[in-house]
Amino acid sequence: MTSCIFCDIIAHRIAAEILYEDDGVISILDTNPIHYGHALVIPKAHYRDFLALPRTELAGIMHAAHIVAGALVSTYRLEGYNFFSNNGAIAGQSVFHFHLHITPRFPDDDIHFTLNLKKYEEGKMREAATAIRAHIQSSHQ
Ligand SMILES: [Zn+2]
Repeated sequence: MTSCIFCDIIAHRIAAEILYEDDGVISILDTNPIHYGHALVIPKAHYRDFLALPRTELAGIMHAAHIVAGALVSTYRLEGYNFFSNNGAIAGQSVFHFHLHITPRFPDDDIHFTLNLKKYEEGKMREAATAIRAHIQSSHQ
C-alpha cells in the first residue's frame, strides 16, 4: 500500500495533536489551519473519498464531528464555523484518505468562497433534477 499520512497518524507512527479518538474515528488539528482550531475528522479505515465510504461508517464520523464542533464552539466562543470535505483533486483534495474539515469562523475574517452563481435556463432545472433522481432511485434498489 502506498503511504498515507493519515494512516500513519492513526497508527501513531507520526505525531499529531489528537483531539478525539474512538474505535472508528480520530480527530486531529490541521497543521495548516484556516484558523487556529481548524480540525479534521478522519475514519480510521482508509477510504479514498466520501463515496468510497461504506454507509455504515457515516454515523460514526458525524458523531465525532458533532463532538469536535461543539468543543470548538465552546473553546473559541464561536458564532459560526464551516464544515466541508474536498473530494477529488479537482475539488482540492490533497490527502486521499477521506476527511471532514471543521474550521472556526470569526467576524470580518475575510475568508470567502469565490462563487460564480448560475441561473438555470427554462426547463433545465427540471431536466437536471430528473436525471439526478433517476440515479438516486437506481442506487436505492
Ligand atoms: Zn490512509
